[in-house]
Amino acid sequence: MMPNADPLLHDDDKPHEECGVFGVWNTTDASALTALGLHALQHRGQEAAGIVSLDEKGIFHAHKGLGLVGENFGDAKVMAGLPGRASIGHNRYATTGETALRNVQPLYADFEFGGFAVAHNGNLTNAFVLKRALVRRGCLFQSTTDSEVFVHLIAISLYTTVLDRLIDALKQVQGAYSLVALHNGALIGARDPLGVRPLVLGRLPAKMGGGYVLASETCALDIVGADFQRDIEPGEIVVIDDTGLHSTKPFGKVASRFCIFEYIYFARPDSVTEGTPVYATRKSIGAELARESHVEADVVVPVPDSGVPAAMGYASEAGIPFELGIIRNHYVGRTFIEPTDQIRNLGVKLKHSANRPILAGKRVILVDDSIVRGTTSRKIVEMVRQAGATEVHMRISSPPTTHSCYYGIDTPERSQLMAAQHDVAEMARIIGVDSLAFISLDGLYRALGKEGRDPKKPAYCDACFTGEYAIPLTDWQANEEKQLSLLQPAAQ
Ligand code: AMP
Repeated sequence: MMPNADPLLHDDDKPHEECGVFGVWNTTDASALTALGLHALQHRGQEAAGIVSLDEKGIFHAHKGLGLVGENFGDAKVMAGLPGRASIGHNRYATTGETALRNVQPLYADFEFGGFAVAHNGNLTNAFVLKRALVRRGCLFQSTTDSEVFVHLIAISLYTTVLDRLIDALKQVQGAYSLVALHNGALIGARDPLGVRPLVLGRLPAKMGGGYVLASETCALDIVGADFQRDIEPGEIVVIDDTGLHSTKPFGKVASRFCIFEYIYFARPDSVTEGTPVYATRKSIGAELARESHVEADVVVPVPDSGVPAAMGYASEAGIPFELGIIRNHYVGRTFIEPTDQIRNLGVKLKHSANRPILAGKRVILVDDSIVRGTTSRKIVEMVRQAGATEVHMRISSPPTTHSCYYGIDTPERSQLMAAQHDVAEMARIIGVDSLAFISLDGLYRALGKEGRDPKKPAYCDACFTGEYAIPLTDWQANEEKQLSLLQPAAQ
């Protein structure tokens, strides 16, 4: 990614808005349900959490904080400060440093039509360009998150209704977004035209008021006892008010491109996304991986937790025992959130330990979902060898991650992506395995029930594996041009 000297740009080095969103309309304990929903979506973001509620007098209440949902919303006093029958919430996985709190969502603003709160999962690709124009017009940004652009675009819109103003704003943004928003009169959900990030609709049982729920994943519906109704469709906006649910699709029809990495790693395995159960999909990916690149071995061992379903699929397809040869300590966060390589290395050891009796003297197939920087794999392989494995073969349930994601999954810049810098044979050598194989792109699509990847019309966003970015990367192009123009000799 480009050097980033512009004060209007993010104050950290990359866009990374891996998040979870939740919203509920018309129920008692709306904020408590939102806290539960966010807890189920905790895997989508552990840096911060926030809830905004709307009480019966039309007054908004907010509480936001750094850290996990339980750390911020475990206190009865905090929850008592979030009254009302409607609420939205957000889990954030993003920036570090002292500016983090002002970036915690939901964002809230007072408009001429009243209060408006919004929570965003995804990443906008023209936010900096829009922000520059908005700042020139006098908009004063309070945060460095791209999501604030929505707020200002809504504020300056010349349309009258909240919905029309939102549509006006959404027509100007590029990128990936699943949004939940709340104003005095409705809960709103929206997905970008390609439907890159997930958003599902659920309904609470009649005894809980029958209200609607919006959430990033179905696991958040399950925890609050809501029935899954359907996915919000790509390009769809739903407005949920006291008269029911109203749907509109203002962007026209385009072929959707749901993020394939949600299936591989990001979504929780008990979620059903776009009609497809994530757990079963991961097992199918593992089975396909076994068909493509099987090797003789004694035991299939997952890198927990994310490699578990794929390893199960692999083991049953290959007819080799599946064993928990690596045990994960659940009381540490994801190693990814550790800021430096040194700490990250330590983090891997904190997180995983070898189950010696399972590994000693065995030829081991290790299954993991992805290799990003390669730090995890290297440490795990070393650990498995130290535990006495005679051979270590690594099988990865995604194709090589060769490109950064600009649409809301936290991936480092290309220079840090192992697969962008090395071919598979070199990666095997660096990681220290006897063999290394990744699932093919076609194999991945097959595991998802397609015939393969149709290069003319790929069913998913797979830019992290192909570099084919379906949504323009306007900010990066603009910045690149700026960087290039700085290199040109000044006109005489
Ligand atoms: P690395 O050490 O950078 O190769 O990390 C790879 C590991 O990180 C894999 O085991 C994945 O389960 C996990 N992973 C992959 N993508 C992400 C992500 N966007 N955020 C957090 N963890 C990830």
